[in-house]
Amino acid sequence: MNVENYKKKVFETIEKFNLIEKNDKIFVAVSGGKDSAAALFLLKEYAENYVNAEIVAFHINLNFEFSNKVEEVVKEICKIAKVDLIVRNVKEYGMDILKISKIKKRPVCSICGLIKRYLINKVAKESRATKVATGHHMYDFLIFYFRNILTKNFEWNFKILPKLKAYTDKFVTKIRPLFFAKPEENKYFCEINKIPFLTICPYSISIGCYADKRSLKIYEIIKNESIDWEEILRSIAIFNRKYFSKYLKEEEEKIGRCEICGEPTNLKICGFCRLTNIK
Ligand code: AMP
Ligand code: ZN
Repeated sequence: MNVENYKKKVFETIEKFNLIEKNDKIFVAVSGGKDSAAALFLLKEYAENYVNAEIVAFHINLNFEFSNKVEEVVKEICKIAKVDLIVRNVKEYGMDILKISKIKKRPVCSICGLIKRYLINKVAKESRATKVATGHHMYDFLIFYFRNILTKNFEWNFKILPKLKAYTDKFVTKIRPLFFAKPEENKYFCEINKIPFLTICPYSISIGCYADKRSLKIYEIIKNESIDWEEILRSIAIFNRKYFSKYLKEEEEKIGRCEICGEPTNLKICGFCRLTNIK
């Protein structure tokens, strides 16, 4: 693997999809894993060299038995990257993920994902960030795409883009600089630059937070079939950008606010607040 080509590919994604604009304050969600660590370093490098933007890291301590160790690694990553870090602990919000998962009989990854999505959007808004960046990679989007087709959640696929613009103040614009990068490329980039990272969460089945067997099967196919997956993902992004920005705007405008916390939801009470009632 050629690191320069990898970097060029990520920088081209940033440029082509306008991921960083002048005077942006970009909140990078850092998990302690290789992907978001790579995203942090590349966004920082791009901002330093090409456009005046502030990069801030954000980490959620999930309060598992290993979470303090993860937080230490995140601190180390941010120190090397020379980026300020904001940390929130799910404990502050009265959340016990393992307990909720048991009571609700839902996989840990599904509860964890809901809490992360909620807090990333909420804390980014509170910090007046203009954009939120995550370390989602090419395989994440491909798995999401095929799973949505199999589960007939077709409209979720319109969100497969390197940039998801926020149309209302309920959301912060989401950017995914590693949209066309493979996880093994992100790993190699970290290794060669001596960026510390931790490997997978013990609660996930295999790689990433794919809480179901079907996703794992799709992952196996993507990993083993020598198909030009990048080309397929590029076509999906072109299709979505061309036909669905208007649809995404309308969908977002339809979303209401939670009666308890004011965060976006389609129901009266958002998924996060419904979890806080579990004792
Ligand atoms: P995952 O759902 O674990 O594959 O994570 C997807 C993305 O969410 C990562 O690339 C990070 O950008 C972000 N993320 C995951 N876990 C955390 C965390 N504990 N704190 C902050 N951001 C996170
Ligand atoms: Zn709420």
